[in-house]
Amino acid sequence: MTDQQRDRYSLICQELDKAKAKLIAVSKTHPKEAVQAFYDLGQRDFGENRVPDLIEKAAALPNDIRWHFIGHLQRNKVKLLIDKVHLIHGIDSERLLLEVNRQATNAGRVVDVLLQFHIAKEESKYGLTNEVAMQILKDNPPAALTGVRIVGVMGMATFTDNDEQIGLEFDRLRFIFNHIKSEFFSETPHFKEISMGMSGDYPLALERGSTMVRVGSLLFGHRNY
Ligand SMILES: *Cc1c(COP(=O)(O)O)cnc(C)c1O
Repeated sequence: MTDQQRDRYSLICQELDKAKAKLIAVSKTHPKEAVQAFYDLGQRDFGENRVPDLIEKAAALPNDIRWHFIGHLQRNKVKLLIDKVHLIHGIDSERLLLEVNRQATNAGRVVDVLLQFHIAKEESKYGLTNEVAMQILKDNPPAALTGVRIVGVMGMATFTDNDEQIGLEFDRLRFIFNHIKSEFFSETPHFKEISMGMSGDYPLALERGSTMVRVGSLLFGHRNY
């Protein structure tokens, strides 16, 4: 941990405090020692995007860490993850939602999840549209899902330096959040999270109502895949 990393971490924490948002430190590809260093500064929420990595780190690191699964989750990996994960950010299909529900119910858990939306201009296989999400929720009333608690939405803006476009995409995610909340979760205060904002765009996301930012390279440095 360099002094520069430490300073940046405390600066980001101050910004997030002011915005009443939570920091998910995205530790994917970085070693356990790097996670431990941020843990020692007080960070407890970390994000991983590969199931084996999350499992390995969870086994080796303090057990009060809250592990967030970000990105695409394959259905055949859900079972491995189910007793380790604090929040799954990437529910992007009905089949995945139902598999998480099934495995969590079998494990006697209720797992918090976010519905992931496709808000970017870029082509992507992943992420729901508003229409598809509404249909999924109609077909599977949230109160009947015994193993999952849908606590909000997640999305990624286009990778661009056009701030106006990024802002509009974040506005769209907030609009989707409000719409789904009013239709399905008006009586359930736990539906409150908007996970948006990464290293390059988290200040914009905070302006647009993010409650959770997922910051990786700004904290840990560049990733070597
Ligand atoms: C890698 C990743 C991040 C963090 O990206 P940075 O640009 O390094 O901050 C955030 N969200 C998701 C879904 C990711 O895959």
